[in-house]
Amino acid sequence: MIFETVGQHGHEQVVYCSNREVGLKAIIAVHSTVLGPALGGLRMWPYATEQEALNDVLRLSKGMTYKAAVAGLNLGGGKAVIIGDPSRDKSEGLFRAFGRFVNSLGGRYITAEDVGIDVNDMEYVFQETEFVSGVHQVHGGSGDPSPFTAYGTLQGIMAALAVKFGHEDISRHAYAVQGVGHVGYHLAKLLREHKAKVFVTDINRDSVQRAVDELGCEAVPLDQIYDVDAEVYCPCALGGTVNMDTIPRFRFKVIAGAANNQLATDECGEEVARRGILYAPDYAINAGGLMNVAIELEGYNRERVMRMMRTIHYNLSRIFKIAERDGITTAKAADRMAEERIATIGKVKLPWMGSAKPHFKGRTR
Ligand code: NAD
Repeated sequence: MIFETVGQHGHEQVVYCSNREVGLKAIIAVHSTVLGPALGGLRMWPYATEQEALNDVLRLSKGMTYKAAVAGLNLGGGKAVIIGDPSRDKSEGLFRAFGRFVNSLGGRYITAEDVGIDVNDMEYVFQETEFVSGVHQVHGGSGDPSPFTAYGTLQGIMAALAVKFGHEDISRHAYAVQGVGHVGYHLAKLLREHKAKVFVTDINRDSVQRAVDELGCEAVPLDQIYDVDAEVYCPCALGGTVNMDTIPRFRFKVIAGAANNQLATDECGEEVARRGILYAPDYAINAGGLMNVAIELEGYNRERVMRMMRTIHYNLSRIFKIAERDGITTAKAADRMAEERIATIGKVKLPWMGSAKPHFKGRTR
């Protein structure tokens, strides 16, 4: 049963990690190491069942393979989950025990922060293994990825404008930014710096007020974000907001934001394409954060990250071309681009293990 589930999506390895003394129940999934070590965050969540945890880690780790491949990184895809309540079950022992399991994989899997995990938890993991990315700047790490994710998203927006409107002038359009948290706020700021009109909404009133006061954005009520007169919709909060209920309301011509899993279903991708709305695939446009942590492997350098961020423009342009060429949705085109790169580089067979074992340069513990 487990082999069937694991084999279905081509995962290489799934590791169950248990330590009763500290209450650790974790699963590490390595989807692919064809392009390089499998990188992906650690999520802590009170999964109702072990099957639910397994499904989540398998789905997320596969997503990381595609994301890294499209981003042009020499990284594979992995993910880890800890079954537990982040508000109740955290301890030093828990994270150090998890860190030992990560270390035992010898660099096949590199962990990072994800939902339910904060920088303090990662400090414990980092005590047991160097195979952690996104560590704090005091250790020579890359720190908060959000401004980079926002900058990368802006590059993707420009690539989409070029295809849809034949120019990249951000100021000529209005934008609907849903969620002005870490990424959304930075994105709204960048758009405003280009003198664009920006509508914002958020469940957090203070965040909205800040965007209005500091950036000059226009606030709209939560549900009305789907109806605003803007050409570009930038989902920066939750997934699934592009769905059969919201799509008919859109006057948007472009969907380009940082949120993960924006399309509720594959059919929603078909539906937006049918309506002539250009969708910038989420995992391609929001790869800035991943690129930021990937640079940590080579010795963190902010300038290099900013340069790499601009490849998001190129990647998106390629995806749009593949969609056009093959008559498929942009979401499918992104998958195709990832699969083609994995197949090609797989033939080159990069020997990342052995001498090229991941080694984080310039960091101290
Ligand atoms: P965040 O939690 O800082 O911000 C999300 C914001 O959305 C919050 O202000 C929250 O109040 C708001 N929000 C939640 N539900 C909402 C709703 N129904 N309507 C409107 N607003 C709502 O998270 P973040 O780091 O800014 O990430 C935003 C999205 O981008 C997430 O989907 C995340 O997975 C994705 N992402 C983030 C990064 C990164 O570098 N932080 C990288 C890749 C992808």
